[in-house]
Amino acid sequence: MLHFGEEPPIVGERGSGTVFFAHCNLRCLFCQNHQISQEGLGQDMTWQELAAAFLDLQERGAENLNLVTPTHYMLPIARALHRAYEEGLRLPLVYNTNGYDSLELLALLEGVVDIYLPDLKYLDAACAERCSGARAYPETAQAAVRAMHAQVGALDLDAPARGVIVRHLVLPANLSQSYEALLWLADEGMLGVPLSLMSQYAPHHRAGEVPGLQTRLACEEYGALVEYAQNLGFEQVLVQELESQETYVPDFRSDNPFNDPRAIGDCATGK
Ligand code: SF4
Repeated sequence: MLHFGEEPPIVGERGSGTVFFAHCNLRCLFCQNHQISQEGLGQDMTWQELAAAFLDLQERGAENLNLVTPTHYMLPIARALHRAYEEGLRLPLVYNTNGYDSLELLALLEGVVDIYLPDLKYLDAACAERCSGARAYPETAQAAVRAMHAQVGALDLDAPARGVIVRHLVLPANLSQSYEALLWLADEGMLGVPLSLMSQYAPHHRAGEVPGLQTRLACEEYGALVEYAQNLGFEQVLVQELESQETYVPDFRSDNPFNDPRAIGDCATGK
């Protein structure tokens, strides 16, 4: 689809040519995309059909080719990209990932990916295990973000063709160790990397199983974190309106997943 809900430098004027891949290598209890990430909603495609879909997005005027949660399909994706490049694909490639990527895979992607859009979800292993089923997430994502930055540097928002944007979904009550994550990025010399602080958390899917995740993010919590980021010296902080808690709940059973959002809050009670 041509997607207009990503960060503005990724969307551009014509929309990001986005392919959502079914399933995921994490199991986040609060996943707003659980229809595709955990229930497997999707469409079977061969890698040849995937190549044709990439070229179709270019035909439709996409600003880039945006692969969402691609990690576990990189072999068929690589085959599809190879075919599509032979047939004229020229779009910048966006690798849109939860950050749970191996260094071996990232080494193979060097020179192939133009824009990395990784999450940095948590820095605490117990929290990563409880909320996403991946105790090794923090050190894995930290190493991945470091490697991505070493490959392509920070994204220039005025000429968004190459570089990294780091995303951080802010959970209520600092359950995502937001302050620690920002400090880590600063210590790693990434104050020049655009930082997308996402306020869109709402208790979806199985979030009701985790104490503290049954509520939405408070305006004051988010504002304090944005201020902290600015005071730390982040040069570019991308912020969301809190209304995005409702705007960004897609229904992938609809032909128009982001224009026909589901009612929110239905999973807070586990129903
Ligand atoms: S990484 Fe993203 S898509 Fe995967 S389960 Fe977590 S929130 Fe869902």
